[in-house]
Amino acid sequence: MRDRGQQVRGVSILGATGTIGEATVRLVESAPPGTYAVEAVTANRDALKLADIARRLGARLAVVADPAALPALREALSGTFIAAAAGPAALIEAASRPAEWVMVAIVGAAALPPTLAALERGATVALANKECLVSAGAIVIETARRFGARLLPVDSEHSAIFQLLDPERLDRVEKIVLTASGGPFREWTMAEMRAATPEQAVAHPNWRMGRKISVDSATMMNKGLELIEAAHLFPVPLDAFGVVVHPQSIVHGLVHYADGSVTAQLATPDMTTPIAVALAWPARMLTSTARLDLALMATLTFQAPDHARFPALRLCEAALAAGGVAPCVLNAANEVAVDLFLERRIGFLDITRLVGRVLDRFGAPPATTLADVMAADREARRVALDQASVLA
Ligand code: NAD
Ligand code: MG
Repeated sequence: MRDRGQQVRGVSILGATGTIGEATVRLVESAPPGTYAVEAVTANRDALKLADIARRLGARLAVVADPAALPALREALSGTFIAAAAGPAALIEAASRPAEWVMVAIVGAAALPPTLAALERGATVALANKECLVSAGAIVIETARRFGARLLPVDSEHSAIFQLLDPERLDRVEKIVLTASGGPFREWTMAEMRAATPEQAVAHPNWRMGRKISVDSATMMNKGLELIEAAHLFPVPLDAFGVVVHPQSIVHGLVHYADGSVTAQLATPDMTTPIAVALAWPARMLTSTARLDLALMATLTFQAPDHARFPALRLCEAALAAGGVAPCVLNAANEVAVDLFLERRIGFLDITRLVGRVLDRFGAPPATTLADVMAADREARRVALDQASVLA
């Protein structure tokens, strides 16, 4: 039974039709009636799936980013009191609705405007999306600080570090280590990767994820993006961050302290857990995820990343060290490159090559305002498309 007088909690789920969005929907749906009131749910263009989620959750507003999907959404919601809207302004409106907790599970830098809108009204933002921290991390963190909003990381490694890190003892942190599964091509040769298909790249051994992050895991760009994400979330010197390959994806992150103690967070590879950590924080909620049985696992292995076969990690480290627009340019170029690869217009190894070329073109001029970041993002996408056509 719920405590008498306990408040119903307003929640919104942005990117509700994706892998993370659906896992969040399931957690909200499985809570006792009266626990949550769902304000807004959003999707890119899958109107039928979004309408189904909105009906099941009793949301007040459903938004598709693509205006062409609005008639289908209206039709699918007819006979309900759920409002339907579309386009960039409606996405911001969804984030602005008075939900105390907002899940940002939109993929790509497209999540930036609604994330800022939620932070600007002091909401608790559960951030699964990593691209907006990579592109505009300083702006996102500063917006959260200025408006007294709380940012809860959902990316599994960052959720791990968030759970491990003692904010009062940051001066005693020697190292923050993110684990990487190594992706589906961990043991592939360069020749094999050169011929890799989109189907092979999205077939991740441990995690079921959206297509974009699956390709990022295959190139290991994902771990580089996560390093940049971590650098914004956890204020320790850049050289304190490290990556270790851990194919079983059971240990998600480690914190090394000055006294030699190392703390680690473990869980089965199921995003339901980090989503639940953010949904219940600072409390803990019950989930039905598979429980970890270390005796059954028997072996956990660790190895250093292979930078020769997976150069994306170094590219991200360089962009992070360069600062300015470099991480934003890297992210935008990578979004374009992943799309081109999924459309079979460039090869798998071309993804990282293309991102490297675009980064070389830009250098790292400063980016202080959101307008600077948005302009760099647009220009980097244009240059990436341009360069893709002349990839030798
Ligand atoms: P997904 O592709 O399964 O879902 C993406 C969601 O965003 C969908 O609801 C889609 O409709 C919406 N969307 C796509 N483009 C949009 C646009 N231009 N405007 C508005 N909405 C748009 O992706 P996912 O795997 O759920 O990942 C979502 C985010 O979470 C990504 O940033 C990813 O890096 C991060 N993340 C995912 C996982 C995972 O296990 N899936 C783990 C850690 C972090
Ligand atoms: Mg991750």
